[in-house]
Amino acid sequence: MKKGKKGIVVCPSDFNGVNWIEKLKANGLNTLGIHSGGGNGRDVLAVLGEYGKAEFRQQVADAGLDYEYELHASKNLLPESLFETHPEYFVQALHSKIRTQNLNWCVTAPGVLENVIAENAAGLAKSLPSSTHNYFFWGCDSAPGRDWCHCPACSIYSFSEQNLLSVNAMARRLRQDDPEAQIAYLAYYATMPAPQLVKPESNVFCEFAPYSRSLDYAICDRRSAANRQYVKYLMDQLALYGPEKIHILEYWLDASLWGKADERHPSPFNKKICEEDVRFYTSLGIRHFTTFAVRQDGAYVKLHGDREISEYAEILAKYE
Ligand SMILES: [Zn+2]
Repeated sequence: MKKGKKGIVVCPSDFNGVNWIEKLKANGLNTLGIHSGGGNGRDVLAVLGEYGKAEFRQQVADAGLDYEYELHASKNLLPESLFETHPEYFVQALHSKIRTQNLNWCVTAPGVLENVIAENAAGLAKSLPSSTHNYFFWGCDSAPGRDWCHCPACSIYSFSEQNLLSVNAMARRLRQDDPEAQIAYLAYYATMPAPQLVKPESNVFCEFAPYSRSLDYAICDRRSAANRQYVKYLMDQLALYGPEKIHILEYWLDASLWGKADERHPSPFNKKICEEDVRFYTSLGIRHFTTFAVRQDGAYVKLHGDREISEYAEILAKYE
């Protein structure tokens, strides 16, 4: 059986004053996830800079760690320049019926998934390979509820189904180049509910990112209405994928959850809640864990220390 993932996901700017490679290694974690940030779509290669280069990946590998890229990649998957010649590739809004750039794509537009999205995913996988063969090419993050297509042909598909149709097309293409390639369906915001009309390809796994959960309660604590809803979503995704194909992407250490970039709030980390969450997730057979630790850079560590990284690692070690 493949080893479980014990990871941290950070952005390039989080390396200011922190050597994440050494920190992961020192704490017995095994996977470094590099994230290109949320919000409006951006060219992920430009955002990643040196952290998207082979030299950096070699440093991670030399430390005995795995690396993965976790990317809101809509701008790379569907370049804006296509709007002029192929406006039908772009999403149609519900009421205005206007097609718009910088969101996702119209999944039923002929050729868009196979010729554009899947081909650009293959190019991204070459530029940003992952040591685990796991790829995370997510849709846009700028307009939940508006990001997928409302044209007549797409209307039959929920946002989850539009997302999975796209991931399936990328999955088929990626395995042509790499038979071991796996790609994530991101369960997040509007794509949290399990799809009904579309089934995942064999090399698709589910990354479960419960962004709007309450971190004041354990995920399984029924006193939180938000968390009760997320457990329902998780159970539905588990029924579709099975526990070995669920990767948890949590927010336990995410110092970017609230406040502006120049404000220095502590992360929401609570050792007791994190442990109860991990106990619950592992009781379901789930073995792959990551958490965002965005904005835990050198300035953060000076203010708040970095004890919580070690505590997170100790919890994962206890339940592996
Ligand atoms: Zn459409």
